[in-house]
This record gives sequence, structure tokens and C-alpha cells, in this order.
Amino acid sequence: MQALVYNGPGRKNVEDRAKPVLTMPGDAIVRITRTTICGTDLHILKGDVATCKPGTILGHEGVGIIDAVGAAVTAFKPGDHVLISCISACGRCEPCRKGMYSHCATGGWILGNSIDGTQAEYVRIPHADTSLYPIPDGADEEALVMLSDILPTGFECGVLNGKVAPGSSVAIVGSGPIGLAALLTAQLYSPAQIIMVDLDDNRLAVGKQFGATDIVNSGGGDAAQQVMVLTGGRGVDTAIEAVGIPATFQICQDIVAAGGTIANVGVHGVKADLHLETLWSKNITITTRLVDTVTIPMLLKTLRSARIDAGKLITHRFKFDKILDAYETFGKAADTQALKVIIEA
Ligand SMILES: [Zn+2]
Ligand SMILES: [Zn+2]
Repeated sequence: MQALVYNGPGRKNVEDRAKPVLTMPGDAIVRITRTTICGTDLHILKGDVATCKPGTILGHEGVGIIDAVGAAVTAFKPGDHVLISCISACGRCEPCRKGMYSHCATGGWILGNSIDGTQAEYVRIPHADTSLYPIPDGADEEALVMLSDILPTGFECGVLNGKVAPGSSVAIVGSGPIGLAALLTAQLYSPAQIIMVDLDDNRLAVGKQFGATDIVNSGGGDAAQQVMVLTGGRGVDTAIEAVGIPATFQICQDIVAAGGTIANVGVHGVKADLHLETLWSKNITITTRLVDTVTIPMLLKTLRSARIDAGKLITHRFKFDKILDAYETFGKAADTQALKVIIEA
């Protein structure tokens, strides 16, 4: 089968690989029908993710059809349409029993990281019963790819951890796919104000289309001042960090209101300063989280009932044999205006 393989920093190739086989009784083999590329895949290709060794097939998002199941799998059978969670979870260990699937003792974020991932014709899914979700008949499978990672990430790490509430004020720093996923799901809670902050006017325009009340271009270095003006000098109840660099975490610290929450979503590769000398008296909370994907069943229902239009995040489509072009397009998002790219079998 064809697969997109990480071959060390800066190197990726489409290679011919053996079809995966069942190795544990809880495994399923899924034939991928649609997958996508994540910003995290680009981090891996930069060499930022030490757990991902050269030779690994990338990808942790996708939908497909069950090809084979191990003897212990009871929830799925060959032919079933399934959504793949980016997080594999045994459902039994102590972190799983707390609903913290991201820290499963024998799972977590392993797909396309420490084991082969979804950017291939077939993938082996460990703990299949608790890591796959059935796709209802007639569902828009393309939009469901957004539920593998970005929608639950924006929602759990940004909106839920950030305690977005009716009538509250929210700033989302970073208007990329994850920031936009937070924007879409924040609106389930009816905040009064959602301010998108980004360097890219196109992404800000998309934010406005998706329901932001205000947009701030951070290119001039005065993003925090602009947010303070927009909030009458008060700052925001929730500041969602959706980039993962020191400058954007700094903006969040500058704009969080007294009693507010900074919800970090971004993957940070270098240390960032925490200004306790200004924040110590402000009653704020800072949260961090790796997505647990515990909200996938709920998000599936909101998608099915058209409360959220996740398909809006998809800007480009490629056949699998053009996956290198898909990487090129996704990697140059500022030029191509790409948000999420769908790769079809
Ligand atoms: Zn991802
Ligand atoms: Zn577990």
C-alpha cells in the first residue's frame, strides 16, 4: 500500500509499505477513505516531536471502513464506517477512567507519532472499541474528518477549559484551523464578544465569516492594546492561545481580565515567560491540555443536527497520490489560503 512516511527532519516520501496486520486482540484494521494533514504533522517534519521516529507513517485524523477486527473487538465489524480519534484509549487504565484518554497508559496520541498513522491506504487502530466511533448512515464523511482532532481540540482545550459562558468575552489568538474550531464551538455557549487575533488578514476575514464579532491584526505589535479598547479597558474573560509561540502567549497574558482564564491550546516548542509580577493579583486561571476527544460523541450530534458546520474548514481536496501536493498547499497556507485539506483514497 502507499503511505506518507516521515524520514527525519525535513524529509518525507510516499513509499510502498506492507498492509498492516492485527497484532493485538483489540486491534482493528481500517481502510482509509479520507484523511487530512495537521499542523502537528508539520511540527514533526521540522523535527520538533522526538517521539516520532524516522520511518513512521504520519497522520492521526481520518475516516474509513473496517477491514478486519481482532478477537476482542465487539463494537465493530468489517464493513462498518468509522471515525478515527487522534487519541487511542484503552478505556480501562486509571487516566482513561478519569476521562483523560490523552494520558492512557497504553494509548494517548500514538497514531502517526509512536506508531504508524492514517496517511496511508490502511491503518492499524489499537483499542479499537474505545478509539473508533460509528459513522451514522448518510453523514457527511468529509466534515467528520474535522472531528478526529481539530474540533475536539478547539472545544476541549479552548472552550471548555477556558470556561466560555453566555454573555462573556472571548479572544482567540490564532485564526488557523484550531483557532477557527474554537471559534465555531465557542458559539455553542453564546458569548457576547469573540475577538479573533491573527497576522493574516485572510484568516481574520474567515474568522469574521465564521462568527467573530471583532478582528484584530497583530502585525503592528499593538494587538493587546486593540483588544483592551474593544473590551472597554477590561480585557477578556477567556483568552484562548491557539498558536504555540511566546508572543501569542504574551498577548493572552496582556488581555486576560481579572478573574479570567487563559486556555492554552498551542503546541509550544520553546519556553515562554509567565509574568506573575503583573498577574499575581488578578485571580486568573491558566489551563493546559492535550485533547482527550471525550467530546467526539457530543460533537457528532451537533454536526448531525447542523448546529456546527465543520465542513466550512475544508478549503482543498486531493487524491491520495497527490498527497505531496497537499503538504505543499497546507504548508504554504499564507499564500494558498488553505485551512484543512482533505486527502481522498
Ligand atoms: Zn492534529
Ligand atoms: Zn487507558
